[in-house]
Amino acid sequence: MKSSLAQHIRAIEDYPKAGITFRDITPLLADGEAFGHTITHLAERYAEQGITRIVGIEARGFIFATALAYAMGVGFVPLRKPGKLPAKTISKSYQLEYGDDALEMHVDALSATDKVVIIDDLLATGGTVLAGIELIEQAGAELHECAFIITLNDLPGVQRLNDAAIPYYTLCEF
Ligand code: 5GP
Repeated sequence: MKSSLAQHIRAIEDYPKAGITFRDITPLLADGEAFGHTITHLAERYAEQGITRIVGIEARGFIFATALAYAMGVGFVPLRKPGKLPAKTISKSYQLEYGDDALEMHVDALSATDKVVIIDDLLATGGTVLAGIELIEQAGAELHECAFIITLNDLPGVQRLNDAAIPYYTLCEF
């Protein structure tokens, strides 16, 4: 399953700027069988692990996280860009190549009794997911594993997760 997934990921050269190869997940989403297998595979991996919530990162992470939460019969928690969540939030900023960004989570979205999987479409430098993990930790919840559809092995995210002893799982590597 893992090896066949890569054929549903499209490489877009020079997006969002010259020299960048963007890994486009929309062909995977458009293929009902491949998308379904992706979610079923993850749901089987995380079955009977005591997972209480699937945490998804805006925006492409939401697509996989909500489908996975539904397939597993557990709740979904969104991590959003600043100013998007209506109730009281906790926030973690992180560095982009140029400038900063931040992720926010409702302060009451998770508690110490929760055991979670955090999912995003892609791991590159790791800045986004590490900010998300910080929010999970601030809430006192237990992180079971990070899951990605794609990991870019020539960028530092993999090393940063290994250095921090954070378990992760990826379906496809470039
Ligand atoms: P990181 O914080 O690990 O450097 O970047 C990961 C975040 O950037 C993810 O939320 C992901 O959606 C987005 N991202 C960066 N590059 C790509 C790409 O080539 N394809 C896709 N689908 N997302 C990307």
